[in-house]
Amino acid sequence: MSKPAEDFAEFTEAGFRLLLQKLKAGGYRFARYGENVDDLHVIWRHDVDYSMHRAAKLAAIEAEESVTAIYFVNPRCAFYNLLEPVITRLTARIQDLGHEIGLHFDAAAYGAKNWTLPELEGALARERAILELILDKPIRSVSWHNPDMSNLLAFDADLIGGLVSAYGATLRRDYVYGSDSNGYWRFQPMAEVIAAGHPRLHLLTHPEWWTPEAMPPSERIDRALTGRAQAGRRGYDTLLAKAGRLNVTG
Ligand SMILES: [Zn+2]
Repeated sequence: MSKPAEDFAEFTEAGFRLLLQKLKAGGYRFARYGENVDDLHVIWRHDVDYSMHRAAKLAAIEAEESVTAIYFVNPRCAFYNLLEPVITRLTARIQDLGHEIGLHFDAAAYGAKNWTLPELEGALARERAILELILDKPIRSVSWHNPDMSNLLAFDADLIGGLVSAYGATLRRDYVYGSDSNGYWRFQPMAEVIAAGHPRLHLLTHPEWWTPEAMPPSERIDRALTGRAQAGRRGYDTLLAKAGRLNVTG
């Protein structure tokens, strides 16, 4: 399915920075989950589904703009490995820039399931422990990955398994929500959400959609996947060259 170019033209690093600047100009403070605050503020959430490299780039742009966000990472992701040294370094850099890391919980890893609360809490405790071990930092918050693929949306406690939920009832009731959806504006464009001036904003982006240049969302996924594949290829060639071994081709 193709979409008109203007639907994804704003999805660039410059476009991302512009949204941050609009929030700052509107007087918004960048808050974390679980803060009990009444002032004008925004909670900016990134769900990292495909690219930690993109996440680190956006984190750097945010730091340049002196704002902070929460990056939700998935320990079971098929597109990055949190234990891979390059990815570990990028995740640490995001934290060093002052951002928080949360758990992006992927229920699909457990197969098709109708969760009960004890099962869900058990799974969250395990995944939280894995993340805390890898990152050596406490994890305080959780967001669901593809929550409509199971019954996860039925769980709307503000705190679940000891983690602040990005799908908690209070957030959903008291905040105006904006999302970059699937790399085009499926609902209201984020600039319009920001311009409306609601005192409490909850904004969700997926770093892979925010590239240096605009391109259709499908090509952005190709960019992330081929970038990773090519880095693996270079790694193999470099290793052989360093070890003085033949790189035998057909
Ligand atoms: Zn996700």
